[in-house]
Amino acid sequence: MYHYTKHFINGEWVESTNNETIDVINPATEQKIGTISSGTKEDVDKAVKAARAAFLSFSNTTKEERIQLLENIAREYEKRKDNFIKVITEELGSPVSFSEKTQYAMGLNHFKEAAKVLRDFDFSEQREHSYIQKEAIGVAGLITPWNFPTNQVATKLASAFAAGSTVILKPASQTPFAAILLTEVLQKAGVPNGVFNLVNGSGSIVGNAISSHPDVDFVSFTGSGQVGTKIMENAAQDIKKIALELGGKSPIVVLEDTDVETAARTAISNIAKNTGQVCTAGTRIFIPKAMHDPFVEKVKKLLPEYPVGDPKDRDTFMGPQVSKDQWQTVQDYIQLGIDNGAELIVGGTGKPDGLTTGYYSKITMFTHLDHNDTIAQEEIFGPVMTVFTYDTLEEAIELANTTIYGLAGYVVGKDPKQLANVAKRIRAGRITINEGKADFSAPFGGFKQSGIGREWGDYGIEEFLEIKTILGMPK
Ligand code: NAP
Ligand code: MG
Repeated sequence: MYHYTKHFINGEWVESTNNETIDVINPATEQKIGTISSGTKEDVDKAVKAARAAFLSFSNTTKEERIQLLENIAREYEKRKDNFIKVITEELGSPVSFSEKTQYAMGLNHFKEAAKVLRDFDFSEQREHSYIQKEAIGVAGLITPWNFPTNQVATKLASAFAAGSTVILKPASQTPFAAILLTEVLQKAGVPNGVFNLVNGSGSIVGNAISSHPDVDFVSFTGSGQVGTKIMENAAQDIKKIALELGGKSPIVVLEDTDVETAARTAISNIAKNTGQVCTAGTRIFIPKAMHDPFVEKVKKLLPEYPVGDPKDRDTFMGPQVSKDQWQTVQDYIQLGIDNGAELIVGGTGKPDGLTTGYYSKITMFTHLDHNDTIAQEEIFGPVMTVFTYDTLEEAIELANTTIYGLAGYVVGKDPKQLANVAKRIRAGRITINEGKADFSAPFGGFKQSGIGREWGDYGIEEFLEIKTILGMPK
């Protein structure tokens, strides 16, 4: 049982100003695995004060000192590999292989990448008539979701520390323990007192206190559009800078030269990965009309290769939804699809056979539906795919761009010209051609209602900087 009723403020664990706690549930067992304190506005005030007090000295550290710090963090993080994998598997229900290869690894890569990028990062530039200086933005509030407990926290922290900003973090209350483990990492790595502060609790109290705090200069948020709107409203009151990483409903465009197995595997893995709880998941697939029936057959045939079940099992591809609420949301969307007359290829409502305990969904695909239908337009955040056929690529691209979102897009095929053509025309922040290759130096973020701003690598660091021009600077 994990029992954390303290917050981390100014370099030490301090009592919460509130006795209330929040239970954390393992979604695979439906059992309570621990508690965290439900922080208050007063706790946020203390944390902001500590971050403000630490800002002057931290923002004046040298680039070399901050590179050293990021490298120390990466080293301490690596020492706790097994703990991270265990904690993420328990609190999120992420299959142990995914917790290791993706969840754990992404967190680590952001710290390593920030250290690397910082080496060549210029904080000043002498132009002919002006001197431009980039300086840390100040105190940053970081609010993160539950679906990648170390990835989003790490990208924000790595960028903030690289820039010289101090922070207050509020992780998702459904998956707080990875952030608590990370706090231990930061402590051991020598992050100065007050530079990193952690306040646990609910979004409506702690998150709201952070985004409305007059002494917070910047809020970096990842989560839903509804909460993103609230953060913007709060930030508008005192013209706080914000960065938002929100949802998506990303398209997969399959070219006609693609073999049907590649198309089917791309579709299944996009929705089954992390149980569909991935903001960049491809959830609308566009295939050539002639491919429809073979695609349907292939999906049915391949599905057993993507086992759903116990996250502790190394062979499991897909675990449960993070919570009962999330499971119910997914069920409601599947039922809506059925009610609206869409045709099920695989899956449907209810839990997969034999999985009575745990918030498990079925990998579900719908075909023969209208692209305007709710299940094709709204983000479900579960393992649900909608399949569309096209006659011409023009038609596919147009539909691919017909949502309020623009976070990611995928193109699968062989012809290099067509691959590049489609990739360039999808209106989204991150396009992957075929397998692509992970690149932690490349910017991450969304067009349209998928967000504002970019994270990762040098673009991520820029978010935590203010730009100053000095005219008449003595040379
Ligand atoms: P969420 O409800 O927006 O929660 C995200 C974070 O915001 C949590 O820490 C939450 O706290 C906090 N929060 C809730 N209400 C708040 C408020 N009024 N003020 C400030 N903070 C508040 O999102 P979720 O349900 O956890 O995650 C699913 C959604 O996030 C999906 O829509 C998904 O697309 C999106 N997402 C986007 C990305 C991306 O990178 N673009 C990544 C992951 C998820 P508590 O939950 O602890 O109360
Ligand atoms: Mg929530």
